[in-house]
Amino acid sequence: MRIGVGSIFQESNQFAATQTDLALFRNSYVHEGDALFQLAGTDCEVAGMLAVCAEAGAQIVPLVAARCVSGGALSNDCYAYLKESLLAPLREAGPLDGLALAMHGSMVAASQLDPEGDILDAVRAIVGPGLPIVMTLDLHAHVTPRMVRQATALVSFAHYPHDDTYSTGERGADLLLKTVQGEVEPVMALAKVPMICGACNGHTFGDGPMAQLTQKARCLERRPAVLSVSCFQVHPHNDLPDMGCGAVVVTDGDPALAAKEAQALAADFWQHRWAFETETLTVGEAVARGRRIEGGPVLLVDTADCTGGGAPGDSIALLDELLALGVDEPAFLMVVDAAAAQSCADAGVGQMVNLKVGYSIDWTWGRPVNVSGVVRRLSSGEFVYDGGLFGGTRASMGLSAVVQIGSIELLVMSQPTYDWGDEQFRSVGVDVRRAKFVGVKNPMNYRRAYTDVMKAAFVVDTPGPTPAHVRNLSFRRMKRPFYPLDEEIPGLEIAVVLG
Ligand SMILES: [Zn+2]
Repeated sequence: MRIGVGSIFQESNQFAATQTDLALFRNSYVHEGDALFQLAGTDCEVAGMLAVCAEAGAQIVPLVAARCVSGGALSNDCYAYLKESLLAPLREAGPLDGLALAMHGSMVAASQLDPEGDILDAVRAIVGPGLPIVMTLDLHAHVTPRMVRQATALVSFAHYPHDDTYSTGERGADLLLKTVQGEVEPVMALAKVPMICGACNGHTFGDGPMAQLTQKARCLERRPAVLSVSCFQVHPHNDLPDMGCGAVVVTDGDPALAAKEAQALAADFWQHRWAFETETLTVGEAVARGRRIEGGPVLLVDTADCTGGGAPGDSIALLDELLALGVDEPAFLMVVDAAAAQSCADAGVGQMVNLKVGYSIDWTWGRPVNVSGVVRRLSSGEFVYDGGLFGGTRASMGLSAVVQIGSIELLVMSQPTYDWGDEQFRSVGVDVRRAKFVGVKNPMNYRRAYTDVMKAAFVVDTPGPTPAHVRNLSFRRMKRPFYPLDEEIPGLEIAVVLG
């Protein structure tokens, strides 16, 4: 068997002021051709795909594997380059038996609102209608009818936090090889409801609405005719027509069953839409509550500036508020500000600096803050991810510094990186266990990373392009009615797309 493997993966954010260019992809990785094999042994989906294909004795035809921290929509040049880097080797590949693609599903380019569908169209034009193609997706994918019609099967992460990227690659490749060998004949159905909601309550473990949906999905997969069930809580920080939450059910030659179960899961989302709402506090309220708790760290979840959701990471709102509140307990915060990092490097370790810091990339959400502090540490910003989407791969914050401002230690980074655990803090010697308050900029991953150490976590109501409540954003393309702007939709019908 000859199996093509490729991946172009980013979660885009149309509310971010910046565009994503190739340099930001290269800050994570762009592995073209044989360089794709460098991902073997990492936690990425491609690594899982490679392992399953190797086990089956299949020959891999590597296309491209590119991954990027979330950010603004891809520039047209960046998208054109990456798309061609996947298609060019495919044209040269000769006959293939199957194709495994690892994508996000919520990528957007400046002039292409459905890149995954567009790539599938272009791939089909090369390989023809019959070639089995399995595409893995993030659980936050915006699945379009075109993707359903052009792929043989779509298989998403089952976990949020996304600690199952490798096994998702394995599941996708396993389904692909079974299809190639004629053991199964996948058909699939997509159903979704017009609702979008913040990610803070979307965890798939423990209790909560996504955990319950995930359990139902796993139960369904025990039926012999059901090959894969994916529940999608769409990434809410794009503004596209027909965004929604729902499911893709893949069955072995039974479209009616796929449609019925996908519809039932989508209806479940709608029925539980309120359960996705999350409590937010002002920073003042969160600090007051935190002070009533003995010890630390107490996490202040600044989810509105989540680089993992496409925000630039340059918000200084939390520091501004903590200074105004006169916080004198040890507190660790982080911000992306290349000029401020350079000023720290120019001054040197142990020196006083006066910085104008914050909102260096996107001025929409606030103004910089003037602070004085002592440079405690400088770093080139390199680190390796412990797990998750980027597990086992390296990333760079660029030139970085730790500045002591009273009791607050501020990590100033030159470039945004995805927050999985506390890799960024650890790479500069900051031990979060010493802190009373830690500012984290992710709606979910702290639940896994800080499980053993955190005393409490409060989602704070700060400004930014990835807020906890989607009501804080202005949608123009997303068609009304949709939840939460419309809380009830009389006569709601759940349409099904078959693929
Ligand atoms: Zn996701």
